[in-house]
Amino acid sequence: MEGIIKFPSREGEPPRLLGNRCGSCGKVFFPGRAICPDCFTDDTLAEFELSPRGKIYAYTVIHYPPPSGFEVPYAYGYVDLSEDSIRVFTMFARDSLEKLQIGMDVELVIDKMRTDKDGAEIIGYKFKPVQQS
Ligand code: ZN
Repeated sequence: MEGIIKFPSREGEPPRLLGNRCGSCGKVFFPGRAICPDCFTDDTLAEFELSPRGKIYAYTVIHYPPPSGFEVPYAYGYVDLSEDSIRVFTMFARDSLEKLQIGMDVELVIDKMRTDKDGAEIIGYKFKPVQQS
């Protein structure tokens, strides 16, 4: 999908997911909505950069290959961005599948999602565990 990721403009800057926020009731949406489903306004929605960090709400690891070019195993689930009061659906980085735990701190990364029929890499957003220092 176009327009849902803000790529870093300089080194060290994290990528961000782009949703929108209703200026009337304050609800945040990802992906962005055309009309706020809570207060039915369409003239107060403005682009909003979501927090790049959250906590795993739920996840599952898939070992059965789908027909669309995804490598197995892979994992997807939900991450709570508590700062923005929103739960987002996401895949998780493949190099950290064995470390995933509910409640774990994770951060947004840009990563390969799959390979298309012509061999081109399709990239997208994922979350991975925050590096412990
Ligand atoms: Zn609203």
